[in-house]
Amino acid sequence: MIGRNFVKFGKIFGIETGLSLNWFLMFIIFVVSLTPYTAQILGLSQAAAVGCTVLTVLLVYASILAHEFGHALTARAFGIETQRITLHLFGGVAMLNGEPERPRDEFWITVAGPAVSFVLAGVFGLAWVAGHSAGLAGPLTYITGYVAAMNLFLAVFNCLPGFPMDGGRIVRSTLWAITDNYLLATRIASWGGMGVGGLLLAWAVFELTSGDVTAGIIRVLFGFFLISLARQSYQQAKIIAPFRGKKVRDFMRPIRAVVPPGALLSDVVEDYLRPMQMDQLPVIDGERLLGCVSARDIETHEPRQWPWMRASEVMKPYGAQNVIDPDEDAIKALHRFGRHGQHSFAVFKGRQLLGHIVDRDFARHMQVSKAGSPADA
Ligand SMILES: [Zn+2]
Repeated sequence: MIGRNFVKFGKIFGIETGLSLNWFLMFIIFVVSLTPYTAQILGLSQAAAVGCTVLTVLLVYASILAHEFGHALTARAFGIETQRITLHLFGGVAMLNGEPERPRDEFWITVAGPAVSFVLAGVFGLAWVAGHSAGLAGPLTYITGYVAAMNLFLAVFNCLPGFPMDGGRIVRSTLWAITDNYLLATRIASWGGMGVGGLLLAWAVFELTSGDVTAGIIRVLFGFFLISLARQSYQQAKIIAPFRGKKVRDFMRPIRAVVPPGALLSDVVEDYLRPMQMDQLPVIDGERLLGCVSARDIETHEPRQWPWMRASEVMKPYGAQNVIDPDEDAIKALHRFGRHGQHSFAVFKGRQLLGHIVDRDFARHMQVSKAGSPADA
């Protein structure tokens, strides 16, 4: 299935996995530039060399996926789920639903990726050695050797101290543990990211002047990509820093109004949702919670129908999409606002509705924290 710039190929370990559309561009560049080398080394026909190269490149990308699953499954062990794993132009990314709460968690989640790459390098390396010592010099030995070398490269390259690459995250988590200052640690680590990006640009200039145009262009793009990623990651860290250690209950508003099931939709909009600047409210009959009426569900009906329809006709039961636990991490809540484009969530403990959280309160907290710490503004 094709989403926006994203081709899904299903869930692996319960995590949505797929390809970014720009991945295909890199796949083609990879196959086209590697095929002549494969043909020359193995003495194959063009068609056989293409087949052998495609298999090699697919194994390299499967290795990158395994690296990302190393991060994702370790994150799961620390209570953080992964929204999706994507292969893209420059490799892969595991988008976690939350941020590690402690430097130690971030350290292990990060180290797990390169560890998987090192293990794969070892496994494919052993297969290559076994093939060689058995006197096999065919495609199988070539493929295992190439994939082993690529995994070793991936492991070492990812360990460069350029945040938000793995090495940079190891630097951040170590500095964070030493200084107990998340933002300062991130700021220093992101300088490393810009530094590594700068070095890649210098390397690219050298390659372009020595005539290797394809590799040079890829490194120019990657260098700029890394520099902008380092800047973005620091900006993001500034956003989430004030929410560290806070829970959803710290931002909860009490229930200020409930909608009777017989209320007309026009009244729900004019008397409840608009004046209270809410996008959902509970529908309650006496003491009984019936469900939730939301602006989104009302808007699925024509406004001219609103004066005739009642809340009970459009309300929906509360479900995972609009409910949050009071003991949930505030940063996870922040991610959920971003992801669903929803402005509020109902806070439930078990089956009891306790209140709401609203994105404006989170934004206000961000502003207040910024004003309170001019050194980081
Ligand atoms: Zn990694």
